[in-house]
Amino acid sequence: MIDSLSPNHEPRPADTPVDMLVFHYTGMADAATALARLRDPEAKVSAHYLVDEDGTVHRLVPEDRRAWHAGEAAWRGHGDVNARSIGIELVNPGHDLGYRPFPEAQMRAAIALARAVIQRHPVPPRNVVGHADVAPERKKDPGELFDWRRLAGEGVGLWAEPVTADGGPAGDVLPDLLHRFGYPVSDDDPIPAVTAFQRHFRPERVDGMPDAECAARAAALLDR
Ligand SMILES: [Zn+2]
Repeated sequence: MIDSLSPNHEPRPADTPVDMLVFHYTGMADAATALARLRDPEAKVSAHYLVDEDGTVHRLVPEDRRAWHAGEAAWRGHGDVNARSIGIELVNPGHDLGYRPFPEAQMRAAIALARAVIQRHPVPPRNVVGHADVAPERKKDPGELFDWRRLAGEGVGLWAEPVTADGGPAGDVLPDLLHRFGYPVSDDDPIPAVTAFQRHFRPERVDGMPDAECAARAAALLDR
């Protein structure tokens, strides 16, 4: 762990638990560019940690401070995600600059870091999320190449195995299931939340269509 401290943070509000973990990708050309931006006082953005593709972990903001990573976001009815979360940035150019798989060394380091975070804070598995989950209309990160299934297998977050949809809920109930699970679902347009759910829990097909398989997976997750 390398201390690469950022000036971009503030006190957490009193009486708010740290009960969320939010994963991001940097969406920038390389680690150096991302680190510079996350430490630039003019940019007013940060995260608690940055994990490089070679597994190097940079600590940017102490965990007891409110870092500025989620922006306008919501989860399970709570609007101030930054107040109650730890933010981890994964170096990756992202969908706009050349989205690519997260290397093994980076995944290993991210999982070890996440496991340590959830041992220090009361983060329930449902509250291990991606930026897209909490801001589906604005964000895609960390995206469908991030191996959430593996994380869950190592004790970080939830996963629902593929299920046969026979007898399960129809696709049209998916927006309601996602709302109950925690997603901010727009009444006017559920497609962004459905897409975010697919990036996280059904990465084989990210098409925004609320189909029966997604509904079955969401129902299974709600039972956890
Ligand atoms: Zn992000």
